[in-house]
Amino acid sequence: MKKTMISLAAAGALMLSAAPLQADAVGNGPNYGGNETINTSILHTYSEMASYLQKQEAKQKDMELEVIGQSVKGRDLYLVKYMKNPENPTILFLTQQHGNEQLTTEGALEFIKHLGTGKMKGVTDNVNILIVPMLNPDGAMGDVDFSLDDYVASGGRHLTRYNALNVDLNRDHVTKIQPETQALHFNVMQKYNIDYMIDLHHQGADRVINGDELVSGSILYPTTPNVDPEVLEGSKKLGAVVYDAINPKGWGTLGKYPGGSAETISRNGIAVEYGISTLLFEMRGMSDHAYEDYVLGQKSNGYLIKQTITTLESTVKAIADGSIDSKDTSFWDTLPEQTNRQSEDE
Ligand SMILES: [Zn+2]
Repeated sequence: MKKTMISLAAAGALMLSAAPLQADAVGNGPNYGGNETINTSILHTYSEMASYLQKQEAKQKDMELEVIGQSVKGRDLYLVKYMKNPENPTILFLTQQHGNEQLTTEGALEFIKHLGTGKMKGVTDNVNILIVPMLNPDGAMGDVDFSLDDYVASGGRHLTRYNALNVDLNRDHVTKIQPETQALHFNVMQKYNIDYMIDLHHQGADRVINGDELVSGSILYPTTPNVDPEVLEGSKKLGAVVYDAINPKGWGTLGKYPGGSAETISRNGIAVEYGISTLLFEMRGMSDHAYEDYVLGQKSNGYLIKQTITTLESTVKAIADGSIDSKDTSFWDTLPEQTNRQSEDE
């Protein structure tokens, strides 16, 4: 497991040090196309993730690890908590509702490690941080009651969007039927006073803005008409923090995600039900899928993991120092909406 993290970090460092190529990193980044290597064995397995979290908890005195429920197949679902003062503003990061969107979890694990180092010293004095990594571990491990034989990745396991019962968890936020969705709502959303949430996903690798410019990711605030205007404004400010942190990077090109208004989706439903300022972040390329165009070669892993870490670190810092409150949200008016060939993303 440790070896995995070193190799991922090394891949990221290589990519970041290749300065002349950096501006091209997204545009010319490797698609799968049937040729690129995709080896799911370089990603944390569920149990590797669980032992990673347990080790971090043992090392970090401010971190608490809690089990909030179990998946359909009985895997414990984890909540990572940094909650020094209940009066502080609170942000929740959610990853891998869709099991085949794993680099967001890889980034979240690195972020958790950083919270225990000098790099992020003092930040948890002023902001409470909740992280639910890999909400769909059965899908992430390919331990499901339907066939994944036509999925393209190699590496010993397939990863799928759906939970073990072939249900899309990000369409279950109103009825809350699945055990994973129930764990999130009953033991996190309804238990803590959460101000902000970022829901982290991956989308197809072929999404563009301005006609032909591939995006490293796309973002969106709640778009249901039932959202409170103040909650919406908080979402737009959260998006401004993310945009200002990511878009200037050589590897960062963000678009506006063309999302709908259904409240079964967490971005909309959670904003309305709990008055939480939510942001959807869809990163480029999935870890596995039956459609080749959705999957991205693993050479892109470095910058995409970095994109998650940058997103999480910039938002907790902006909430901790209060700078989020004065963010200018006007960029949303000119942010180009990405072109969406297919709709199976959020
Ligand atoms: Zn997703």
